Amino acid sequence: MNFNKISQYLIASVVLGICCFSALAAQPVIQIFTKQPQQGSMIVGRMLVDGDIYFNDRKLPLTETGEFVFGVGRDTQHQVQLMIRSKEQTIKYPLYIEKRQWKIERVDGLADEKVNPKSKETLARIKFEGEKVRQARSSASGQNAFLMQFVLPAKGRISGVYGSQRILNGEPKRPHFGLDIANKIGTEVIAPADGVVTLAEKDLFFSGGTIIIDHGFGISTTYLHLNSINVEVGQEISQNEKIATIGATGRASGPHLDWRLNWLSTRLDPQLLIAE
Ligand SMILES: [Zn+2]
Repeated sequence: MNFNKISQYLIASVVLGICCFSALAAQPVIQIFTKQPQQGSMIVGRMLVDGDIYFNDRKLPLTETGEFVFGVGRDTQHQVQLMIRSKEQTIKYPLYIEKRQWKIERVDGLADEKVNPKSKETLARIKFEGEKVRQARSSASGQNAFLMQFVLPAKGRISGVYGSQRILNGEPKRPHFGLDIANKIGTEVIAPADGVVTLAEKDLFFSGGTIIIDHGFGISTTYLHLNSINVEVGQEISQNEKIATIGATGRASGPHLDWRLNWLSTRLDPQLLIAE
């Protein structure tokens, strides 16, 4: 290829690039359903072209009708980028993530061994249980229950929210990632959407009676401090079905349900799923 040919080729590709760009502007490649993505959002969308979609180099699976889901954590800054790859082109799709303000939450009167566990046995137990929970959350089945309108899993007073900076017995700790719903021991806990149980444990060190439900495509929900558990691992459950009762087991200062939402290992805000 001589110099002239190369420059002609370059000019041609620039023009082609502009053409593609204007064609794109007229025809969106994806649609995002989540109204205003913010820190902690589960984000659902649909592909409008044939191809693959990537978030942070992870290829997102698609439902039969082209929907995908992913989540952005509490400390995500400003914007994230999706990449859409079709036969013809690769398109970068920036998505603005709204910043939030976090509350400061003080919890006092917890048993010191629950705040600062020191014994070898306890530390080994925490490690073992953490691995079990991590495994349960990494399950990404093909069901598409994450597309349902979620409902609150229990009635009660909201006593803690996602993202707050926690000060336990006066010591700053990791942020709180659940939505706390306080009510009497024995209050019914229901499934907020269809799913499959991937963890059902009576007594974990921090979280006491604990359930994890897989809603498909890496989206799962977690239920902590339960008093009784009505489901077992592998069980398919439907929205509104009773799964457990509220308790004060594990590291809890009083009876409440701590409800969590995860996209694989990313912790999301379950409250954002509930219609106002
Ligand atoms: Zn909590």
